[in-house]
Amino acid sequence: MENNFNIILEKQSAFFASNQSKNTQFRIEQLKKLIRVLKANEQLLNEAVYKDFKKSAFETYETELAIIYSEIKIAIRKLSHWAKMKSVGSGLSNFPGKSYIIPEPYGNVLVIGAWNYPYHLSILPAVSALAAGNTVIIKPSELSLNASQAMAKIINENFDEGILHVIEGGVEETTTLLKHSFDFIFYTGGEVVGKIIMKAASENLTPLALELGGKSPTIIEKDANIKMAAKRIVWGKFLNGGQTCVAPDYLLVDQSIKEKLIDEIRNQIKLIHGENPLFSEAFVRIINPRHFQRLISLLDKEKIVIGGNTCENELYIEPTVLDNVSFDDKVMQEEIFGPILPIITYENLDWAIAQIKSRPKPLALYLFSNTAKVQQKVLQEVSFGGGTINDVIMHLANDKLPFGGVGSSGMGNYHGKYGFTTFSHQKAIIKKTNWFEPWFKYPPYTKGKLELIRKILG
Ligand code: NAD
Repeated sequence: MENNFNIILEKQSAFFASNQSKNTQFRIEQLKKLIRVLKANEQLLNEAVYKDFKKSAFETYETELAIIYSEIKIAIRKLSHWAKMKSVGSGLSNFPGKSYIIPEPYGNVLVIGAWNYPYHLSILPAVSALAAGNTVIIKPSELSLNASQAMAKIINENFDEGILHVIEGGVEETTTLLKHSFDFIFYTGGEVVGKIIMKAASENLTPLALELGGKSPTIIEKDANIKMAAKRIVWGKFLNGGQTCVAPDYLLVDQSIKEKLIDEIRNQIKLIHGENPLFSEAFVRIINPRHFQRLISLLDKEKIVIGGNTCENELYIEPTVLDNVSFDDKVMQEEIFGPILPIITYENLDWAIAQIKSRPKPLALYLFSNTAKVQQKVLQEVSFGGGTINDVIMHLANDKLPFGGVGSSGMGNYHGKYGFTTFSHQKAIIKKTNWFEPWFKYPPYTKGKLELIRKILG
């Protein structure tokens, strides 16, 4: 294993040193090839992720492939512009001079992906890294094993391993990889492993981005459009079987509208997944028995108001809603990451905001309210990675918005130009001419010179 890794890393290192990836046309060609080979192998990709957790071809396209294709196309269109040296002012102290910012690739990048959107979370960062001129090793999650194998096959058969390569494996392989010195690490996954990655990166002072998770609250105010809120929450919560980093983790609902909201959620689940979601082709399974058991242990039977049925053989948990939940309940002690939706009520929005603020900063926050003052209050008072007003998850689907967490939900961001910037060092340059040099900056430091620089520098 170690020897194989060394060979690939040496190839990537030598390739980067050859300066070929500094050429933007070269990068565009790699991205064109990537979209071509992914499109040609869609069936293989769909079948693999279906085997992993019964994810439908529709959801795979909607939440993974379409976003990757769109990101590649944007990068192809824009990367020459993004990569251009930018002129900025120089100020009096550098007169006569010109100042530039040159976005330069870091070099050899390691992307560590998570299992829940296996293509999206491994390939999307790689697109930005390649667009920025880096070489990339993708280490997908071993939990979505079939998807990992499919990516390895498609990418490794079509790309020079010095440019882009997939290394499969779990903890052992990742630990070995992390002993090597990369120029940038991009990790998606949970907080506990995030700390391990950051510690390993610190050994080589490697810059990194951490895309982590946490409990994303959804506030539903009394003036919200309840029917629309229920529709959008049900879609976003139960998408991918609830295994979405930005899924609404729990609802904070104004007491006066709770019953109506629960009724609408019940109707919506039936509309989307039928009387028995076990037979719904659109309902994804839990990734493995360990996560299934973890989720079952969060189900407080007394509090189930919708769903609650499970089937261990199928790794199936019905879309489930828990009512009368408090922050002390087990389901509120960890990120749920499954199709269980707890409801906590409030009488006063300030109390709800204080509860969120007393906990780790969420990756996402959603607010359903049509009152501008309420919207402004929540946006101003609560810190979180990103969010949507009157919808859920959709901020992730706008490449003009940076996607990432804050505090314990992560650091760094990507998507569109933000991804390019994340994988680039901003090299700062001042270019001087030789016809003038301020004599007063040199010793001996006289009173007169001090007065002069005070006047010039302010
Ligand atoms: P995971 O188990 O797939 O682990 C993520 C990666 O870390 C995998 O590649 C895995 O092989 C590697 N890994 C696991 N243990 C390791 C160790 N001890 N040392 C080194 N590497 C190790 O994913 P997960 O952690 O179960 O993912 C779920 C979490 O990820 C949730 O918290 C979720 O919110 C978060 N997430 C965040 C985003 C985002 O974009 N912010 C996206 C998806 C998931």
